[in-house]
Parts: sequence; structure tokens; C-alpha cells
Amino acid sequence: MNPIPVNEPLLDGNEKKYLIQCIDTGWISSEGPFVKQLEEEFAARVGRKYGIAVSNGSVALDAAVAALDISHGDEVILPTFTIISCAAAIVRAGAVPVVVDSDPVTWNMDVSQVEAKITPRTKAIMVVHIYGLPVDMDSVLNLADKYGLYVIEDAAEMHGQTYKNRPCGSFGDISTFSFYPNKHITTGEGGIIVTDNPQLAARCQSLRNLCFQPQKRFIHEELGWNMRMSNLQAALGVAQLERLDEFVNRKHWIGQRYTELLADTPGIQLPLAKTDYAENIYWVYGIVLKDEVPFDAEVAMRRLADLKIGTRPFFWCMHEQPVFRKMGLFEDASYPVAEKLARRGFYVPSGLALTEEQIEQVAGTLREVLQ
Ligand SMILES: *Cc1c(COP(=O)(O)O)cnc(C)c1O
Repeated sequence: MNPIPVNEPLLDGNEKKYLIQCIDTGWISSEGPFVKQLEEEFAARVGRKYGIAVSNGSVALDAAVAALDISHGDEVILPTFTIISCAAAIVRAGAVPVVVDSDPVTWNMDVSQVEAKITPRTKAIMVVHIYGLPVDMDSVLNLADKYGLYVIEDAAEMHGQTYKNRPCGSFGDISTFSFYPNKHITTGEGGIIVTDNPQLAARCQSLRNLCFQPQKRFIHEELGWNMRMSNLQAALGVAQLERLDEFVNRKHWIGQRYTELLADTPGIQLPLAKTDYAENIYWVYGIVLKDEVPFDAEVAMRRLADLKIGTRPFFWCMHEQPVFRKMGLFEDASYPVAEKLARRGFYVPSGLALTEEQIEQVAGTLREVLQ
């Protein structure tokens, strides 16, 4: 049997054609026309006025935090169960990440825990939609309204997803996406910031480009970064965006097939198919080992690897990160749901190139490993 990788992108649309255009015209830097095209088309797709393409989804969060002037003394509330990029952006800005636990069924932040964490120093809520289902946005937006907080929406896993029929990436003050190859659409490396606020858009454009000034180019009033996306990357993005609906349907099919094949397997919790406000788009297909299984995700993943099935562990909680503990953050904190997800959860091959046979193979092997 051939190994089944955890992810493989589909690049069989107009990707090659647009890349050749870049080379034929000589437009390969961030000044090329695909960058603007991707920004406009992606922003329109998620119902936003402005799109600012950047070099990855992590720096998109850095720019979003900086653009909102979040800095020393400020607090930002976010889920503990997320990728390091979210908390890193807050910490690098000099602000304090304040975390909440997860919902055991959707794996998203438990929004009912947010209000108790709000203090006079709280400046923003950073929402992160995890693995396929969006966060309950109405509750977050109500709290943000009541306490005058910004909302940063990390929609890196949510291309094409909606919350109550409104696109993810259209909520709050500013939203970010990643185009890493395991996301629904990819540019190899890349990301985008979207917003409706012209001042925030202008700040992100400036921060992305070293805060060069239009008139006095090499005189800087502020420190930015080089976060520019190249025309080569954007060419891929434009081609991928053409197929977003198809890709979302395909991921949905992959998720449904896994669920059909694994539904009566004892010992595992599967992703929730839908909530009142959205259907799962299965960015990845997660598995959580139930208490009755006498080993952790690490063991299950090792056994699957021996049988040539690629997996990835779930996120490791922010409050348990050595780097943050060394900084004195999150002392004495405990978030039992997220801690369990981190230890008992992993995901199986979920890429767009996955075939029916491979899905059956993964499901069969998983059942074997659990016995
Ligand atoms: C992938 C991801 C990111 C980071 O994106 P990169 O492009 O890999 O830097 C940020 N947030 C979430 C929720 C992600 O899934």
C-alpha cells in the first residue's frame, strides 16, 4: 500500500497558466497584477471592502494586532486551544493573552467563558474558528458591543465557510486568512487581511511594506515588516479562488465519507456535522479518543504512521506552552476541555487530493489501530 499523506493540495486548474504569465511578463514581485486581483476578488468573496495580501497567515495576525494599536498593558481574549500564531501576535505586541477553554463538541472557544475574563484592560477578542465549524459569532459580537472591544477574526481555516449564511472573514473589525497548502485554497505560503475600515486597511498596507512613506520613502515614522506576497504566489491564489466552491464541496464530501465509515466505531468522538448556524466544512477531519481508550493520541498516531497513514496532533494549549510559562504567563491556569483535546485529539488525512479508496483505507486502518 502506498503511504497516505496527511495533506496534498490540488493544483490542476489555471495555476500553471497564470504562473507562466508571471514568467512571460516578468512580473514576479509583489508589484505584479495578480496581487491586486487576488486582494479584490478574495475581499469580494468574503463580503469585505479591502483585502491586503501578505506572506502568511501568522503575519496577517501580527499586522491586525498592530493596526488596532494593541500594545503594552492591553489584554486580548482568545481560545487556549489554537495555533501559536494567535498568542504570539499578542505577546509580540507587548499585550497579554487571556485564554478561555473550549467547547467539548465543536472544539471552538467556549464563548460563555469570555465575559468573566473581561477587565478594564481588555481591548479585543480574538476569535479563532477551529477545524471546520465557526465560533458562535452573535454572542461574541454582542459582548464586543457591550464592552467596546475590537474583534479580530482568525478565519485561517474557514475559506468558503459561513455563519448564519454570512461569510466567515466578514465579522468584526478585521479578519485574517492563511493560504498554506493544507488550507482550502493555497498560494504555497501566503495569507490575507480583510476589513471594511479604510484606516485599518491603510495601516495594514503600510505595516506590510516596512512603513515606507509615499513621499519620503526611506524616512520611517513607524516600524513595519516586509510581509509582501509575490505575484507568483498571488497567481496561484487567483487560480485556486476560482475553485473555492468546488473545494469546499469536496472537503465536505471527504468529511461525510469519513463519518459514514467511522460512525459506529467505539472509542472515538468524530467532528460535529453541523450546528444551528453552520455545516462543518472539515478543514481537517479530527478524531478525539474517548476516555475508555487506554492510550493517548500520540500512541494512535504512531501506530497509524507504522501503517503509512499520515496524521497530525491537535493544537497544544497556549497556557501549557513552555515559551509562555517561561514568560510567567498563564500561571496556575487549568482548562480541562482544551487540555484533553490536545492530548486525545489528532487528525487524519484530509487533503483535497484524497480519493474514495484512500478514505476507506484510512478508516479501516484506524479501526484496526483502536482494537
Ligand atoms: C494555518 C493557521 C494560521 C497560520 O497560518 P500560516 O500561513 O501557516 O502562517 C493561523 N491561524 C490558524 C487558525 C491556522 O489554522
